[in-house]
Amino acid sequence: MSSSISALRALLAQPKQVVITTHHKPDADALGSSLAWAGYLKQKGHHVTVVTPSDYPAFLNWMEGNDEVVIYEKRQNDRQVRDLIARAEVICCLDFSCLGRINELGEYIRQASATKVLIDHHQQPEDFADIVFSVPTAAATAELIFEIIRDLGDQDLITKGMGEALYAGIMTDTGSFRHPSTSRNVHLIIAELLKVQIDLSSVHRRIYDSHSEIRLRFLGFVLKDKLVVNREFNTAYIAITQEELRQYQSKTGDTEGLVNYALSIEGIVFAAVFIDRGVAVKISFRSVGSFSVSDFSRKHFDGGGHHNASGGISYEPLDATVDRFLSILPEYKEQLTGVPAAVAPP
Ligand code: 5GP
Ligand code: MN
Repeated sequence: MSSSISALRALLAQPKQVVITTHHKPDADALGSSLAWAGYLKQKGHHVTVVTPSDYPAFLNWMEGNDEVVIYEKRQNDRQVRDLIARAEVICCLDFSCLGRINELGEYIRQASATKVLIDHHQQPEDFADIVFSVPTAAATAELIFEIIRDLGDQDLITKGMGEALYAGIMTDTGSFRHPSTSRNVHLIIAELLKVQIDLSSVHRRIYDSHSEIRLRFLGFVLKDKLVVNREFNTAYIAITQEELRQYQSKTGDTEGLVNYALSIEGIVFAAVFIDRGVAVKISFRSVGSFSVSDFSRKHFDGGGHHNASGGISYEPLDATVDRFLSILPEYKEQLTGVPAAVAPP
């Protein structure tokens, strides 16, 4: 990390045109770390634009700097975003590890002449950036942003607004401080953020307790009618059709967190949520313990992520995707249950 810090310090020694981007459907860590990093770079005299490859949930729009975010929309601002990326001197890629995860922007960034900086905590980063902060053991990209600002000697530039954006990222990526990634370092960083009077309970409320009534009814429907528990493989999953999304007027972010309910059942070690988005089925995987969902999603669903939290995609219909998922499970019987798979008779 220290050689990357020196390279970053040299890169940012003069004011630059900077673009910050993050993954498709940004979550609190993606957006929070991007906006906090933008807040820092602006104070250092850089000209900064945050560009997201898609929209994001309304429960994130309170973050400082949110009003200036450019949300890429192919039909609306393709030219503007393309120019912005082509003209940038520095492009910072936060909270994703491969350019394939940011739709069209990935190609624009690949072709851009800017110096590229990757700041991320996903496994197996693609080799596309010039300066790389890739720390899969970090709980959140927001944790890395805090450390980078601190290591650049500028912790005193972290404002309350930046601190709350970073806190939101760390809080959500650690599952409210319950995942094994919640290290001593994480708590020490939160203690540092508290020095600038971040409002912990207000951040928590804005993210977790600001849903619409219909979203709560959607959750009720999913838990009652859609959750499937497969005790043979200690696996629980949920598959949601486009019609069901329409029926409950589902908006961006409304399906976030469903997978954790499946994982919350006693004895379940593997959980999956399949959402039919029309163009593709988007999948979220979670596990507890040693079963690696990042390996699983990389191998079978063109995805990746972290050991216990990953995602993937399928271009088959929803039913076929779920059938394929179920047909793969026996391969993992021993990892999921501790019981070796039965050997087929000769
Ligand atoms: P989520 O289920 O919350 O969408 O994603 C869980 C984790 O897996 C996140 O860290 C996310 O960045 C990663 N992830 C989700 N979908 C994909 C995917 O299609 N490809 C890769 N490489 N990572 C993904
Ligand atoms: Mn993250």
